[in-house]
Amino acid sequence: MDLPVAEWKSYLLQKWSLLPKSIQVTVSTAETLSDVFLQSSSLLQPEDEIFLKRLSKGYFVGKDSGAPLFYREEGNKKFQEKDYTVAAVLYSKTCLKDIIRAQTHGYPERLQPKIMLRKAECLVALGRLQEARRTISDLERNFPASPTLADFPSQSVQRNLHHLKMKVQEKENLPETFPAALAKTLEGVDLGEENKQLSNASSSVGLCMDPLKGRCLVATREILPGEPLVKEDAFVSVLNPGELPPLHHSLDSKWDTRVTNGDLYCHRCLKHTLATVPCDGCSYAKYCSQECLRQAWELYHRIECPLGGLLLTLGVFCHIALRLTLLVGFEDVSKIRKLCDEVSNKDIYLPESNSRVKTLNSGLGEIEKNGKIVETPIPGCDVNGKYESNYQAVFNLLPHTENHSPEHKFLCALCVSALCRQLEAASFQAVATGADSSRLKAAAAPELCPDVTVWGVAMLRHMLQLQCNAQAITTIQHTGSKEGIVTGSRQVRLATGIFPVISLLNHSCSPNTSVSFISTIATIQASQRIGKGQEIVHCYGPHKSRMGVAERQQKLRSQYFFDCTCPACHTEVHEMAARPRWEAFCCNSCRAPMQGDDVLSCGRRGCAESVRRDHLASRLQDLRQQVGMAQKLLSDGELEPAIQQLLGCQRDAKSFLSAEHAVLGEIEDGLAQACAALGDWQKSATHLQNSLRVVEARHGPSSVEMGHELFKLAQIFFNGFAVPEALSTIRKAEEVLSLHCGPWDDEIQELQKMKSCLLDLTPSL
Ligand SMILES: [Zn+2]
Ligand SMILES: [Zn+2]
Ligand SMILES: [Zn+2]
Ligand SMILES: [Zn+2]
Repeated sequence: MDLPVAEWKSYLLQKWSLLPKSIQVTVSTAETLSDVFLQSSSLLQPEDEIFLKRLSKGYFVGKDSGAPLFYREEGNKKFQEKDYTVAAVLYSKTCLKDIIRAQTHGYPERLQPKIMLRKAECLVALGRLQEARRTISDLERNFPASPTLADFPSQSVQRNLHHLKMKVQEKENLPETFPAALAKTLEGVDLGEENKQLSNASSSVGLCMDPLKGRCLVATREILPGEPLVKEDAFVSVLNPGELPPLHHSLDSKWDTRVTNGDLYCHRCLKHTLATVPCDGCSYAKYCSQECLRQAWELYHRIECPLGGLLLTLGVFCHIALRLTLLVGFEDVSKIRKLCDEVSNKDIYLPESNSRVKTLNSGLGEIEKNGKIVETPIPGCDVNGKYESNYQAVFNLLPHTENHSPEHKFLCALCVSALCRQLEAASFQAVATGADSSRLKAAAAPELCPDVTVWGVAMLRHMLQLQCNAQAITTIQHTGSKEGIVTGSRQVRLATGIFPVISLLNHSCSPNTSVSFISTIATIQASQRIGKGQEIVHCYGPHKSRMGVAERQQKLRSQYFFDCTCPACHTEVHEMAARPRWEAFCCNSCRAPMQGDDVLSCGRRGCAESVRRDHLASRLQDLRQQVGMAQKLLSDGELEPAIQQLLGCQRDAKSFLSAEHAVLGEIEDGLAQACAALGDWQKSATHLQNSLRVVEARHGPSSVEMGHELFKLAQIFFNGFAVPEALSTIRKAEEVLSLHCGPWDDEIQELQKMKSCLLDLTPSL
């Protein structure tokens, strides 16, 4: 998803492997990024571009006049099944403009208001009142009570409309325990006193230069758990299209009814929205509002709009690289050129491979001030030594040019130059048709004009930077059984962005901060006490509760090019610890932990039990399959069979897995869900408490995972009306969750509602 699609990637790697050795050497030994770019792009042949175009066409991103009819029917099916979310999305795909466009294609006129009504109904059922109101007023504006709709009982539409408006009003008047207005003011966490050295950071954060680690953030005073440290809007972000493969053209797959991130979130601000406003020119860019559509169009989408299929083929990193240069503005080539020149001089005099130690005494941060060379010790800062979330800071993020393999650089360079050629072609077309081309000044010659080369080099730099500096923008999506009583939650990646200040944080496998997002704004909070002078760190992904030390080290080395020496890695390497409890095997006869490599033997003195590891591993694999089947039954609402299956799994698991094994946790969690769906709250709570112990052993008592689990337990106690248990679990859940996310968080708000409901019902407490 970040990198180009597999076909294009393997096509380019094959092209690389077939290049004459001498050319490979020239590209590999190129000293600057502009050399890499120029040499690689001269190798891009017309047949390569034809191949790429064919791939891009696999993504259907155009508009089609027949689509509204199709989506309406699919929407109706979902509506009958009471799947209001999907129905709303499908109805949204037949947006008003498309419906009006379809009129000329014989679309039955009398059905138009009905779709809009259905969509509004879905939105009301889902409690998305603002979007419902917008749909209703669109409907009123575009389909006024008119006598021309003679064959449609227009009175019934009016009646329905009136009825819907009442429903919206009714719902809006419901007393909210946690008013939306309050949530809104809390959206902006307050960082307190302004930080003069570092924008978007609290005054307790300082920027330093460490001879070994480079730039890093440290606590300038003691920081308490839960304290917000950085709040930064993405300098650039691109919505991840979702995991679905492209649809290849055939009659029944022409219109995609699958719902992805792209249908649920605004392409500019990432707000969750069901009534999207689609772009006029393409079918893939959708927004939460006219305002977002307008801003996106002006800033970047008018250039990106015709390139949809190409950008999906080239991957998110290439898309971000393009959007970054568009945000800086095509007019401002001189600015990019200046930054490129500065950096390419550095590339020559100071290979980055040994730059880390030298940065302090190198010319890296020299900036001219009143004609004098002033030394600013930290790259990315302005003349006054202030670091801000701006393009200069983005440009100064390390691309690690010397660490990437030559074929990777070749691959990125060719993606960028293919994109540049498409941009040029688009601008020719714009000139030919007299459309607005002021932002695209392209040369008439087939070679890249100098300006395009400057953008190309900048884009290549950004693509290489992204491997180490891209930040995943995530959200918690709630999942649940069909009964939907106890919700599970999982973290999903919504978008990829660049945050210049957050990029300053170094990695630790056991970090002292947490990150959370509202639309494109990231907030970093301390998840534990951080002493004055201590480094502030976050986790790039390989967390100690998710993988063992060897796997983490390997991952960090190959993606981020460093050897992790965080305290977690240090102790784990030195203790040569046995497998963590959440993946340990135990003795069949006495339940003590098993030890050893290929052959495991019981750790208890006097027990002679021993077994081959691969035997246990295959048992575990079978068990995982069985659990998967049970989960499928559960999500299909087959509760009794699901419980029987899970109990069988549980017996099996207990005979060879440690009590805190992750799979046992999953089984208990499934049992808890099934019991809750059957209304057996007590049993459900017992199972969930078992699952909670596994989560605690693995992730720690104040981890965000523990917070989600406590939230579930609170829901169960609440539904079972176990008041004291519910209240104490709510308190614990709030305590843990507030270390990781702000008060706007869905789960925290839900907890507040439960609490005040319980307190209202039982005033004696
Ligand atoms: Zn938006
Ligand atoms: Zn568009
Ligand atoms: Zn580590
Ligand atoms: Zn034993």
